[in-house]
Amino acid sequence: MKFSYLVIGGGMVGLATARYLLLADPGASVALVEAKARTCSGNSARSAALYRNLFSSPTSRLLAESSISYYLGFATELGLRPNGYLWCFSASQWAGVAAAAAGLVGQTRAASLLDAAAIGASLRLSDGSGDQAVSQAIFGGRCGSLSAQALGAHYERLFEAGGGIVQRGRSIARLELAPGSVQRFAAAVDTTGKRLEAERFVVATGCWLQDLLGPAGIASGVYPKKRQLFAFRLDDPGWLAAADPSGSERGRSGLPNIILPGGVYLKPIPERRLCVAGLADDLGRPFELPYAPVERAAAEPDYFRAAIEPELRRHFPGLAAQAEPLTIVTAWAGHYDYYWPDRNPVIERISNLVWVGGCSGSGIMKADAIGRLAAAKAVGQAQVSLAQAGPAGEDVAFSVDDLSLRQRRVERESLVI
Ligand SMILES: Cc1cc2nc3c(=O)[nH]c(=O)nc-3n(C[C@H](O)[C@H](O)[C@H](O)COP(=O)(O)OP(=O)(O)OC[C@H]3O[C@@H](n4cnc5c(N)ncnc54)[C@H](O)[C@@H]3O)c2cc1C
Repeated sequence: MKFSYLVIGGGMVGLATARYLLLADPGASVALVEAKARTCSGNSARSAALYRNLFSSPTSRLLAESSISYYLGFATELGLRPNGYLWCFSASQWAGVAAAAAGLVGQTRAASLLDAAAIGASLRLSDGSGDQAVSQAIFGGRCGSLSAQALGAHYERLFEAGGGIVQRGRSIARLELAPGSVQRFAAAVDTTGKRLEAERFVVATGCWLQDLLGPAGIASGVYPKKRQLFAFRLDDPGWLAAADPSGSERGRSGLPNIILPGGVYLKPIPERRLCVAGLADDLGRPFELPYAPVERAAAEPDYFRAAIEPELRRHFPGLAAQAEPLTIVTAWAGHYDYYWPDRNPVIERISNLVWVGGCSGSGIMKADAIGRLAAAKAVGQAQVSLAQAGPAGEDVAFSVDDLSLRQRRVERESLVI
């Protein structure tokens, strides 16, 4: 059978794209092929699944805002936790970004500026005067977390219900050109040598993009870089959060996600007595190519001890008083698929093949918009209306080519964590 479209890669981006292909081209036959036994078990399963509309680049903001609007419509199904984001700055950082931050808050729904006193009302931060002491913050009220598994299952269910075919446990080894042609792809050949024919192909293999595109003569510009998360015991949320006036645990269950001035970010899960922490290291952390699809990255507890735990002790005096090291309950690692020049997604086409990736650490929170745009690119639509993407909640017409490589019109995103 020859499909109208074959999507390669069943992570969040591939699933959302496949779902929107069926809507963009009704009547088309769409198949999705995923190397692993289950969809959404690559980097989509390793994310912190945080979402936020706080971004420096207007493009990132549009993609996130419209995706968040969609997710809020399925809040219960997606396990949405709208607990907000507190992005903290030291005095010296703030001096450099104050004007930009005020502008950003003006452009961002449900965002506000907090001074040290307001921050102190919710977090038990050190009041020290060191370089990194928190002096200002931006609070994002339209931020939180969701279940990545539930979101993947949501797109997969809608895709299959619409007649889409999912083939799991089938890894594509190479893309094959049409006989006698150097212009068109005819098939994707799996690791057993079987061919999957299609009119058009969408490659959505995340950090493994270049492994498939490189041998086909295509430079994606997307590079994998390892990122790690550590869940540590939070038996006493009191060291993190100011006591709830009512004295109940309930007040703390609304603890926001936090970005500290040094870049450590925290996702507190007080009801499970856990807190997840991450930090993105750049220098010395290599870009890794090629990166075989079955490989699994391991977290490095030494990295937590050397780079993350000292930051937590510095900022939270309640923890500094504790002599024992924090107990890591579980830790995992994956790879960001970076498009390094501006750290926004790439959606490009060459001949009858579209590739989509470069989500740069925010592919879950932007997946809905990326899926719509990648589907439009594959179908040949130039514009997509992104629902409720604008600062006042208005729909915004987005030119799909703005995310291409050749006609790119994207600002650099500086808030990648
Ligand atoms: C530690 C960490 C924390 C993160 N935290 C967040 C966060 O809080 N919020 C957020 O929005 N984003 C976060 N991200 C980023 C997010 O996980 C990614 O942007 C997103 O998962 C990208 O989705 P994807 O579908 O492109 O990639 P993936 O989910 O990796 O999917 C690609 C799929 O392609 C398959 N594949 C690869 N090669 C082949 C082949 N040859 N044939 C067939 N199938 C193939 C893989 O098996 C995989 O399932 C985080 C990432 C990491 C690593």
